[in-house]
Amino acid sequence: MQALVTNIQGYSIHDGPGIRTVVFLKGCGLRCKWCANPECISGSVQTGFIDSLCTMCGKCAAVCPHGAINTAAASAEAASAEAAHRINYDLCTGCGRCADACSYGALVRYGKMMSVEETFDAVRRDKMFYGDDGGVTVSGGEPLLFPDFAAALFELCRNEGISTCVETSGFTDPDNLLRVIPLTDHLLFDIKHLNSGAHREYTSHTNDLILSNARLAAAICTDILFRIPLIPGFNDTIENIRETAVFLKEIHSDPKAQIMPYHRLGDSKYKALDIPYDFRGVDALPMDRVEKVREGFISLGIDCSISV
Ligand code: SF4
Ligand code: SF4
Repeated sequence: MQALVTNIQGYSIHDGPGIRTVVFLKGCGLRCKWCANPECISGSVQTGFIDSLCTMCGKCAAVCPHGAINTAAASAEAASAEAAHRINYDLCTGCGRCADACSYGALVRYGKMMSVEETFDAVRRDKMFYGDDGGVTVSGGEPLLFPDFAAALFELCRNEGISTCVETSGFTDPDNLLRVIPLTDHLLFDIKHLNSGAHREYTSHTNDLILSNARLAAAICTDILFRIPLIPGFNDTIENIRETAVFLKEIHSDPKAQIMPYHRLGDSKYKALDIPYDFRGVDALPMDRVEKVREGFISLGIDCSISV
């Protein structure tokens, strides 16, 4: 069994308890305007272009079997590689030949088909770092779009004594949750907005499925942390904080939440993939504002921390 893996990141301390190896799976049904991992949205292999590394040598265009790269202006006349070099994504199949041909690392392939066993080998290699709390986390994208892969990986991990964790948007078929949760030690479940219209405006879908899955997960999961991406101008209002707290207390007797402050670290990947980034130029919230939101949750009876 295989899945498209964007990245396997070792030594993470932000994706569940302890030190973890995070397996990022490629593909997501939501289109969050602030997404920091745009390379994980599409369920296909993609090729990104980093203009600052390009020397405009033209080798990539020469090897592309589909004529998808235009370096016609790859000459001294072009003001910059960004202006000169274009990938036509309507023609690109993600074959990766251009990235192999580029000697300068200016073309990046996002996505590699990996078997469960290959992925497990990569996870097991880091086992010495996990200590008592750490382990593997599957993230994305939306990892629960690949329930059989996640379940098979987790079965291997559990047999090896490696703790398992899922980071989910909750935008998935409830059957996928039911398939993977029994093999999951820690569940990180995103709650973005309690107002369905606002949710749809900023993520492309209403929150109905997500809230119903949150309720389901809270009922059957032994360790669940609700994560709230704190996005300026979207969900940082008093009204939404209050409604989120009420919802969490309704579905769980002792809810724990974690705020994930918005950041702009994904900006360069939007540029590399030549896709629009609605949050370009939007500043991160000041930390005192984030701390006020945390205090707000605590005053409403939610055990709340901030992801740093
Ligand atoms: S992306 Fe690489 S191969 Fe293509 S023109 Fe630039 S430096 Fe040359
Ligand atoms: S990934 Fe393949 S099809 Fe796409 S631009 Fe590169 S060589 Fe062409």
